[in-house]
Formats: sequence, structure tokens, C-alpha cells
Amino acid sequence: MKLEKNAIDRENYLNSKHAYLNLFFEQANDAIAVFDLEDHVIAVNPAFEKLYGWSKEEAIGRILPLIPPENEEESKQRKVDLMLGKKYHLHETTDMRKDGTFFDAQISLSPILSPHGEIIGSSVISRDISYIKENENLILQSEKLKLVGELAAGVAHEIRNPMTVISGYVQMMNEDSDSPYYEYTKLIQNETERIELILSEFLVLSKPQANQYAPINLAEALSEVVQFLQYEFQSKAISLKIINEFLNITILGNKNQLKQVFINLFKNAIEAINEDGSITLQVCKSKDEKEIYIQIIDTGCGIPPNVLDRMFEPFYTTKTNGTGLGMMIINKIVQDHQGSIQIKSKQHVGTEILLTFPIMTQ
Ligand code: ADP
Ligand code: MG
Repeated sequence: MKLEKNAIDRENYLNSKHAYLNLFFEQANDAIAVFDLEDHVIAVNPAFEKLYGWSKEEAIGRILPLIPPENEEESKQRKVDLMLGKKYHLHETTDMRKDGTFFDAQISLSPILSPHGEIIGSSVISRDISYIKENENLILQSEKLKLVGELAAGVAHEIRNPMTVISGYVQMMNEDSDSPYYEYTKLIQNETERIELILSEFLVLSKPQANQYAPINLAEALSEVVQFLQYEFQSKAISLKIINEFLNITILGNKNQLKQVFINLFKNAIEAINEDGSITLQVCKSKDEKEIYIQIIDTGCGIPPNVLDRMFEPFYTTKTNGTGLGMMIINKIVQDHQGSIQIKSKQHVGTEILLTFPIMTQ
């Protein structure tokens, strides 16, 4: 009798243990898969189906392409290591979903041993860490941005003082148009003016200025920018269409900085157009009249997705003479003004940039 009861207890115990393990497998947040020695799938849990996009029915018995082609070598090495009994704990890599897209994965790999100690398969526990990677990148980027901004502003300030002295004296020398060096001093003056212009681009990044906010007439700022770029539009035969002739809108901000944003955006649009394209500037209010939308649409080369991902990074440029600072500066200024920026682009068709700023109410 006693023996029999023990046997039942033991069976219950085993059953319940099995059931618990099964529940764990089914409900785990991490993707889990088990493979035989040839990498055929033996089991996958629902989290795996969700993460990798392969259903259980599709997966079982098959060798799945879970590794991006360029990681093939690395994966082979892991497999060799596994067969030697080595484990991988929280290893960071890139995995591939059924639809061919990649994600940052953190995986733990272990061999599965038979009761006799021989390796009969392997298991992987995997988790999508893309969002962590994205956060890390964002933090890195904003630190880089801050550093570059400070550096640029610092250098600009330092160069500005000697530049003032130089251009002051050159201007004096220039006043005598009979001087034998007039041609040279004129040239020097032009070039120093250019340097001062470049310096002023960096100066908009410096902190103190950012706090000097005043009501700005948007129409005025925009028409000054359009005026400033007139020559560049003409020399490339680009037609500028202005829709909704700037409404009488006031934004709280720094006028020079905002003009810098528009100049940088127009310059990028101009540079994206080979010849004969058009740029459209469209200004309108949001429905609730709390925000202003400023759209700059070009019929240029468009932005490929890999550039779109990186274009706000300092020094990222696809142009031989680019600085890669334009978009970074724009981003910084727009953020400082509680605005936002959205980009839509289609290669060989064009790019649409949408800026949104809060309207200042009297
Ligand atoms: P730069 O203009 O000096 O290259 P930016 O920061 O202004 O630096 O722009 C970064 C990159 O973004 C450019 O090199 C270009 O590849 C891309 N880009 C920006 N605006 C546009 C646009 N309107 N059309 C196509 N590409 C653009
Ligand atoms: Mg630019």
C-alpha cells in the first residue's frame, strides 16, 4: 500500500514539475528555442514566435535562417564552441527575423547534455535589446552634440577677437583706394567677412544667446532668409514657390538662430537639386491655431534610409564639401525653441521637411 502511494506521489510530482516547466517555457518573456545537433528546431516558445516571426508550425523540424548573412562566420564559431561544451551568457549580437529585418539581440546559448554527458542539442534564450541600443545611441549622440556645440562655440569666440582686430585694420588700409595694395586689402576684407559669417554660424550654438528670447515676426525672418539666398536660387535656376504668403505670426525665440535654421534647410534643399528643380515654402497654422507649420519641400535627390538615420549626427555628411553640422545645428535650435522637425523623403523624388513651432499668443 505504502509503496503504491509513493509511486502515485512521485508521478504527481513529476507531472506537476513537467507542467510547471511547460508553463515557464510557454509564458517566458524571453524567446527560447531548442535545436538538435544539426540545428533543426525541436521546440520554440510563443515569445520566440513573436520575436522572430516564425510560427511554431513553420519552425519545427527546420533549420531557420536566424542569423544575418554577414554574421554567418561568427555564428559558425559559436556552434563549434557549443559542441566543445562552451556556453555563451548574455552575448550581444544581431539576429534576423522571418521578414529579413535585423534586431539587436542579447542571447544565451548552451549545449544540452544527455544523462550520460554527451551533447545532444543546444538551446538559445534570446531577447530584443534594440530599444536599449537605441537609447544608448541617443545618449551618445546628445553627448556628442553637446560637446561639439561647446567646442564650436568656444573656438568661434576665441577666433572672433583676433578677427575683429584684423578686419578693423584691413578696413583702415582699405580706405585708401590709391594704395598699391588696395586690390589685396580688398580681397582680405572680403575673406575676413566670410570668416566672420562662418563664425557667426557656430556662435548661434552658444548657450547665453539661446536665452535671449524675444517675439519674432516669422514673415520678416523668412523673407530676410529668402532675400539672403536669392542669388543661390537664381544661379541654379531653382524656382521658389511660396504658398500662403507668410501669415502674420509671432514666435518667441532668437531671430538669428531661427534664420540659421531656415538658411541651413534651404541650403540643403538647393544642394540636393542638380538643376532646374523647385523648392516650395509653405506656412500654415495648426487647426487649434496653437502651432505654426513651416514646410520646405524640394524636388532634389531625396535621402536614402541609411542617411536619414544618421543625418543629425555631427560631422555626418555625404557631400565632398559638406561640414555635416547643418542638421545638428537645426536640431539643437529647434529643440531649444520647443519645436519639432519631421522629415519625409523619397529617393529621386524629393524631400519634405516639416518644422513645428508654438505660436506666441499676445
Ligand atoms: P551637410 O549639408 O554639410 O552635408 P547637413 O547636416 O546639413 O550637412 O546634412 C547632412 C546630410 O543629410 C547631407 O550630407 C545630405 O546627405 C542629407 N540631406 C540633408 N538635407 C537633405 C535634402 N533636402 N535632400 C537630400 N539630402 C539631404
Ligand atoms: Mg547642410
